[in-house]
Amino acid sequence: MWKICGQELEPGEKRQLMLKPDGMDYELPATLICGKEPGKTLVVTAQIHAGEYNGTPAVIQAAREIAPGKLKGNLLLMHCVNTSGFWRQHWRTLPEDGFNLNSDYPGRPGGTVGERLADWFVKEIFPETDFLLDLHGGSVNEPLTPCLFFPEAEKVREASLAAAKALDVPYLIASGADRGEYSYAAVHHDVPGLLLERGYGGFCRDEWVAGHKRNIYLLLRHLGMYESSEPEADHEPRVYEHVVYLESERAGLWYPAVRENDRVAKGQLLGRLEDMFGNVVQEFYAEGDGVVLYYTGGLAVRKGDSLVAYGLDD
Ligand SMILES: [Zn+2]
Repeated sequence: MWKICGQELEPGEKRQLMLKPDGMDYELPATLICGKEPGKTLVVTAQIHAGEYNGTPAVIQAAREIAPGKLKGNLLLMHCVNTSGFWRQHWRTLPEDGFNLNSDYPGRPGGTVGERLADWFVKEIFPETDFLLDLHGGSVNEPLTPCLFFPEAEKVREASLAAAKALDVPYLIASGADRGEYSYAAVHHDVPGLLLERGYGGFCRDEWVAGHKRNIYLLLRHLGMYESSEPEADHEPRVYEHVVYLESERAGLWYPAVRENDRVAKGQLLGRLEDMFGNVVQEFYAEGDGVVLYYTGGLAVRKGDSLVAYGLDD
């Protein structure tokens, strides 16, 4: 018997339903699979950032394919967490209150929709979770190369990084964040986890969906939960302990000089900021050798907006 979110499942049972977090009038499509044999509990979430589409079809497909009779442990697949943002074609945050489920945790009971949703994860989901996988992508204006974030917090780093290396992702980034869904669970509830990034631009493409789905299966194998014919990755990933998250110090017109997955050398121009009359306001140069993970495509940026994120080689 597996009990979670007010549901009780028998071994070998698969159930698809709309969860109602914290009893709200809010529909979160989910698939619960109770394995025939005991094992770990894996939670997979897609679309905590609305418009980062590729995780959702990956989860939908995996939910249909996975046979409960072959599963060891329990699997909670959340097909689309920011459902209101999804249906309103909103980007990133919850449209109700602007809550960012990847940076505004832990929320609070009795708060706004986003605060209640985060609080529900903290109370109902994290205590029942052995590993958390959160599927993202670049936003509408944010080209990126496939990469993942793992928590650098001591208690969960090793288990998270070992899982990361079992996946098929070229760049693994150590992260000190602790206010997002997977990072809050990692740092404050000792739940190892990963945040995967793949695809961008508000597009849903078959190869990006397939990439996310492949990593769900590779993670299930790594956790000893499910065997599949998914081939192992045939290349070693690169671990980045230091990433520069370049932000704009003022509003302006941003002209990037690099693209995702570009190699950059120390001192290389990353992009320039101009005013509306074409005067160069500021130029940005790479601090060291590395690789561009993602960047803002232009043109309008505000103070504090992200410009480029690049990993440093050393
Ligand atoms: Zn995201």
